[in-house]
Amino acid sequence: MTSIAFIGLGNMGNPMAANLVKAGHTVFGFDLVPENLATARDNGVTIMANAPAAVKEAEVVVTMLPAGKHVLSVYESIAPAAAKGTLFIDSSTIDVASARHAHAIAARHGILSIDAPVSGGTGGASAGTLTFMAGGAADAFARAEPVLKPMAGRIVHCGDAGSGQAAKICNNMILGISMIGVAEAFVLAEKLGLSHQALFDVASTSSGQCWSLTTYCPVPGPVPNSPANRDYKPGFAAALMLKDLKLAQEAATAAGAVTPLGAEAAQLYALFNAQGGGDTDFSGIIRFLRGDAA
Ligand code: NAD
Repeated sequence: MTSIAFIGLGNMGNPMAANLVKAGHTVFGFDLVPENLATARDNGVTIMANAPAAVKEAEVVVTMLPAGKHVLSVYESIAPAAAKGTLFIDSSTIDVASARHAHAIAARHGILSIDAPVSGGTGGASAGTLTFMAGGAADAFARAEPVLKPMAGRIVHCGDAGSGQAAKICNNMILGISMIGVAEAFVLAEKLGLSHQALFDVASTSSGQCWSLTTYCPVPGPVPNSPANRDYKPGFAAALMLKDLKLAQEAATAAGAVTPLGAEAAQLYALFNAQGGGDTDFSGIIRFLRGDAA
């Protein structure tokens, strides 16, 4: 049993912390939103007055925050309060540069750290089946692995500091681009008088096969559980897809990588968000491509 501080108890953090409690760990929690603290308390988390107070009690600290600026400001406030040798795990999705900066803050205070963003969404957070993509030194990863297990379906050590975030944004850039490709194919099929089912039956067993088609099919019918069958209720919200595509573009610019389709996908998701699609599933981009309202 490990004592764990959990900072950031929102849509993802609360169910993740609940799974740590269920696994028998002692979890000290903090968030800025009182309703989120009340949910955490109901799940067996011990609520603390602020982040440094939560960290003082902990051998391991997990953060699940909106963006890089939140992670850096929380790290600056908690690193001095943590005992040397504490392990920090940041599971937020943030830019690679901030992730590396967060590792540096931890190292300055004698703290081990990994970046460990996730995929799997709120469903995976509740079910304890998230995929963790971890970046950091081997000894930090070895300590993190048993802590992550109750929240995880899969844990992959991707390399040094920042590699987890790099893997996350590269994967989601593929996802954003492939969803637009699949959606465009269905829009073209509609104009050509080809049924959704016929296109699905061919493409799902041909070279067009991909996750955006076979798991998150953007039209209702062929994949009964895809968000298209429930009026594009997320799932994975288009606002979060836009966030990840912007992070990929920032990283591409900083690293000098040529990613024209990633840039185009970011533009299209920005327009879809501006037209009110941000709260709907990212597969709803098909409505934008057809010219329908979000
Ligand atoms: P959320 O907004 O529901 O939760 C973030 C929480 O952080 C909020 O409760 C907020 O009050 C808290 N917070 C902000 N600043 C704080 C501070 N200084 N101290 C303490 N708490 C603070 O967001 P979420 O959906 O839980 O996402 C969290 C992270 O996970 C994001 O980086 C997101 O991109 C990533 N993510 C989300 C999903 C998803 O499906 N929701 C999937 C994969 C990854």
